[in-house]
Amino acid sequence: MTFPNSLTVENLTVSYPNSKEPALQKVTLNVAASSILSIVGASGSGKSTLLRALCGLESPTNGTIKLGDQVLCSSTKFVRPDRRKIGLVSQSGDLFPHLNVFQNLTYGLINWRRADRKTRCKELLEAIGLPNFEKRFPHELSGGQSQRVALARALAPGTSLVLLDEPFCSLDVEVRSRLRSELSSVLKSCSASAILVTHDPHEALAICDRVAVLRSGEIQQYSTPFEMVASPSNDFIGQFVLQKNILPIQYKDDSYSTCIGKLRLPADTSISSRSVCTFDRNAIHIEFSSNDFFTVISKEYRINHYVYTVASGSIKLKSEMSLDTSLSIGDKCKVEAIHDQNFLVLPENIKSKF
Ligand code: ADP
Ligand code: MG
Repeated sequence: MTFPNSLTVENLTVSYPNSKEPALQKVTLNVAASSILSIVGASGSGKSTLLRALCGLESPTNGTIKLGDQVLCSSTKFVRPDRRKIGLVSQSGDLFPHLNVFQNLTYGLINWRRADRKTRCKELLEAIGLPNFEKRFPHELSGGQSQRVALARALAPGTSLVLLDEPFCSLDVEVRSRLRSELSSVLKSCSASAILVTHDPHEALAICDRVAVLRSGEIQQYSTPFEMVASPSNDFIGQFVLQKNILPIQYKDDSYSTCIGKLRLPADTSISSRSVCTFDRNAIHIEFSSNDFFTVISKEYRINHYVYTVASGSIKLKSEMSLDTSLSIGDKCKVEAIHDQNFLVLPENIKSKF
């Protein structure tokens, strides 16, 4: 069933001239009405390309984009950006510096009566918690206030979908987390849905209904945050998004064996020669041991614990240890599993099903 303003993207592929690999490959996803989808991926993974294709600033090589029942882009159709009713908010908000907040907010409402523009502006300023800011100029706003005004401007014409391209990344941690948690209620008050692009996995999982992970232009997993945490579809999701450890695991001599020892896993755990297991930083314990094969390569202070990185050959593991741990960089150590049940074996080479 298609909701009036749900977005449907099927097999979207975008190739830039002079590039060997497409910047986006067969991306398929759906944003239900009044919901938030997060897109997370490292720099260069295709996040901005996806947003630009959705609002009509790039021409896809293949695939379809539909908003509600309207086809915005297919092999036979291309709706111009200004006719798509999709708003875009960039990293810096891009407010017009010579226009005040009222003029910025109502910039796209040229066909509206002045009284209606005033009412809409007042409504939006209430929604973003900046009543009476009409006459301020962009240089008189803080970074967080500018981003709120940029969001309101994107929503002003009654937009049903806004695309947010790393909108909080230049803000300090506190403002960033406040704006993030306000976003859902602002969107709800305007009956809009959003795609929030970020390179920060915590931000991606924090407020969205669904999350899509992009890597080299391909979606690796598309699910609810809860599903992603409970069953990451591959080691990239485990390591990059969930910040977990990854270790090869084998089944031999009737037991599950890793380079940090044997694990007691449920007997029906399915495993192959290329399986890996994933586990949290607090699922292992490290201890000084002069003749062991792991070496401490970094030690970071985190308010109430240390994060140690230990390495052996190509294997690197992170361990959260209490502040009374006295290991130093260069020390040899042994690594032990604390709770076997916290180790999850991942299926190999599996991408998310849609
Ligand atoms: P992200 O926003 O995730 O950092 P982008 O969508 O900007 O990634 O870029 C994805 C890939 O496409 C990168 O390899 C980038 O170099 C390339 N790319 C982006 N824009 C262009 C362009 N206008 N022309 C050619 N290649 C581009
Ligand atoms: Mg980008």
